Amino acid sequence: MIKNEEYIVEVIDINANGGGVAKYEGMAVFIPGAVPGDVAKVKIIKVAKSYAVGKLLELVEASEHRAEPPCVYAAKCGGCVAQHIKYEFQLKYKQKQVKDCLERIGKIREVEVLPTIAMENPIHYRNKAQYPIREVDGKIQIGFYAAKSHQVVDIEDCVIGNQKNGAIVDAIRKFLKDNKISIYNEATHKGLARHLVIRNSINFDEAMVCLVINGKKLPHAQDLVERLRAIPGITGILLNHNTAKGNVILAEQTTTLDGRDYIMDKIGELTFKISLLSFFQVNPVQTKVLYDIALGVAALTGSETVLDAYCGIGTISLFLAKEAKRVVGVEAIPQAVANANENAQINGIANVEFVLGNAEDVVLGEKFDVVVVDPPRKGCEEDFLKTIVANAPAKMVYISCDPATLARDVKFMYENGYVVNKVQPVDMFPYTSHVETCVLLSRLTT
Ligand code: SAH
Repeated sequence: MIKNEEYIVEVIDINANGGGVAKYEGMAVFIPGAVPGDVAKVKIIKVAKSYAVGKLLELVEASEHRAEPPCVYAAKCGGCVAQHIKYEFQLKYKQKQVKDCLERIGKIREVEVLPTIAMENPIHYRNKAQYPIREVDGKIQIGFYAAKSHQVVDIEDCVIGNQKNGAIVDAIRKFLKDNKISIYNEATHKGLARHLVIRNSINFDEAMVCLVINGKKLPHAQDLVERLRAIPGITGILLNHNTAKGNVILAEQTTTLDGRDYIMDKIGELTFKISLLSFFQVNPVQTKVLYDIALGVAALTGSETVLDAYCGIGTISLFLAKEAKRVVGVEAIPQAVANANENAQINGIANVEFVLGNAEDVVLGEKFDVVVVDPPRKGCEEDFLKTIVANAPAKMVYISCDPATLARDVKFMYENGYVVNKVQPVDMFPYTSHVETCVLLSRLTT
């Protein structure tokens, strides 16, 4: 293929980022925004050794899997990559993505991957929003980054976000403008207002609003409090002080301007306390579905000792504790461990213990019957997997938000005496390319 030339290609697949893939004379052509089944006119914008990248110019034939995006910002905002794809097809392609990774990276042959479990009403599901704040030509932009860029697309109402957030964004925008608060500039590392982070509770009328600033003090902070107090359901107003360069949104230091520095929410029957820095699944409705699957495959009888690694605020641990003899949770963030201990108390669950530390550094002083892991996207450290293999639990329940690292870790477990028994993708992130998967690995007894 030749750069800047136009070609007509048939789109046959989707890649991990939700973009379309075509084949042209044996070469893979990645086309953002294209859907399998499209016949597309593309302009080649990059040619590498084994692949090319094409810009979608025109649809010669539109795929039957295309849908009208439910969001008005879909074409500009980089937050969702699958707004133009029918929901049923998103589910199919997520299932295929998991299968492809397990076969290609995990070298697991003919693995059965169950159909992705759909979300019944796949909009307004997110309970956390992190908006970069920038200034362009004197206008304050609060929204999300455009695809592959740090250009902020101003957003009034996000289709996958909480419906209450529009009013909060609006109030913040007006506060910053009326008080002439300086806006953060990434290039110069100057300016104060950097990000807006909102955490919503789905089950209680609660929300935490946090303005991330590049400094110690926010001028007119009382005015911000008064404006936000006028919006119902805001139970905490915080400042997070992030003066470091780079993409990390939240720093360690937080000041409470008003109300509480946490929110409460529920998953199923259990209630959780969630602080600003603690991880909490962004889609609590589907989290319940996911945890029920994990609980189902763990098939506890009441006599087991269970390890829940990467336990966050103890959500899975507390779910498992009802059916286990004892659960030990391991988590790296101190605030999350503190929340986990409080959550055990709030729910009256005594047979759990939470340990602060990196999973790969813990020394397991006892034998576990079941190990549950739910690591971040980079997956588990090999040292930790080695520790599990040495501990020889009968079952490992692997919950993953990244099929590629899941497959890498499953391969390691497979090579060390574990077989894959069940692979269940769950759609936690409709309209994005992300997929959550629960895998049951069972130890071969020889
Ligand atoms: N199981 C929880 C949290 C999963 S997210 C839930 O479902 O809500 C992954 C968690 O792993 C985060 O809380 C993160 O702080 C934690 N984490 C990241 N790296 C870690 C490590 N090396 N050791 C232990 N925990 C880690």
